[in-house]
Amino acid sequence: MGSRVVTKTFRTGLAAVLAATSSAPVLAQDTSANPASALETEAGHPGPARNIILFVADAAGVSVLHAASILAHGEPLSLNIQRWPHLGLSETSPVDEFVSDSANGMSAIMTGVKTRNGVISQGPDAVRGERDGAPTKTLLEYAEERGLLTGVISSQSIADATPAATYAHANDRGKQGEIFTQLFNPRFGDGVDVVFGAGRQRIGEQLGALETGFEQLAQEHGRPIYTSLEAVPETNRHPIVVAETMDVARATMDALDILQSSPRGYFLVVEWDAHTDDPQEGLQNMADFDRLIAEVQARVDLDDTLLLFTADHSFGLQVDGGSRGEELLAGYDAWKTTGSDEVIVRLDHVLINDTHSAEEVPVLAIGRGGERVSGYFPNTHLFDVILDAWGWRHD
Ligand SMILES: [Zn+2]
Repeated sequence: MGSRVVTKTFRTGLAAVLAATSSAPVLAQDTSANPASALETEAGHPGPARNIILFVADAAGVSVLHAASILAHGEPLSLNIQRWPHLGLSETSPVDEFVSDSANGMSAIMTGVKTRNGVISQGPDAVRGERDGAPTKTLLEYAEERGLLTGVISSQSIADATPAATYAHANDRGKQGEIFTQLFNPRFGDGVDVVFGAGRQRIGEQLGALETGFEQLAQEHGRPIYTSLEAVPETNRHPIVVAETMDVARATMDALDILQSSPRGYFLVVEWDAHTDDPQEGLQNMADFDRLIAEVQARVDLDDTLLLFTADHSFGLQVDGGSRGEELLAGYDAWKTTGSDEVIVRLDHVLINDTHSAEEVPVLAIGRGGERVSGYFPNTHLFDVILDAWGWRHD
């Protein structure tokens, strides 16, 4: 009963807010401090999410989730994310082919624009390695523009395709030096606030070829670039870590320590590699990622936070045999010692075609705005799902 009164009062309030801001820039409305709790009472129209976390398991298609569940728990449907209420299937192709790489796959999610393989958040007018296309505005840039705190975490090089598509624009994913330097020249806001990834050696070499380096960038921009999570002082609220390897679980918890203090909410993207060219490694990564996601889920308030899980593209792995109680990856050790560079890998119960594949990947969602994930859709729809969850308009 009480809530009905609140609802009516609130609707009047919302109408007034909308009327007052209808001719003002979208920003005025978007950055207003309306708490989600006030908006959520509007019947049938849940209020906006305050925080969004996008978990990307690189190359984790439906079959990888299935196999990771069996490997880690002995049964299908045992991953935490497989209990989330909202499921869709996301189509990942670039504009001109059927099979996506990480660059196109993540760019499409982050910008709502499908492009070409190899291209980082530029339109399909880009020619890989030769000509820039129009930069396409990323969700992270939208979030920065509106004053949210932002974070990007990767188990891979922080300038590799998947993390790069959140903050950079480049005609070739291979240009990791150029991509990395874009962290220090953001187009919106003050750039990514928390950056935790690997790739120290590769990025360092490419920076050298551009006649710069970690030290030089750090000094020019007054932003230290640490070699490990442990080296970050607690007083640094905008840390960049480029390590040789990244502990994604710790990185995510460290990032949340900072992001959860944001007065306007946050956007966090976490990538964990789940390519199953080495099935033991890839499936274990997926299972570990799922455990991390469960920890994050326990730490956030799903009334004001949207959690999304997806992949940038799928991969050729298939469980085609085996029995309950048997080892899923029987035959793995023998393959690992003798034939680990074969393209087609025939284990006892698992067949691996060591390549990306074209079929749709799962999208799972829980929390504020998650109901927008449903049915089959192109991966560009995820851009709209996230913007809609925030209640923001497309530029
Ligand atoms: Zn990928």
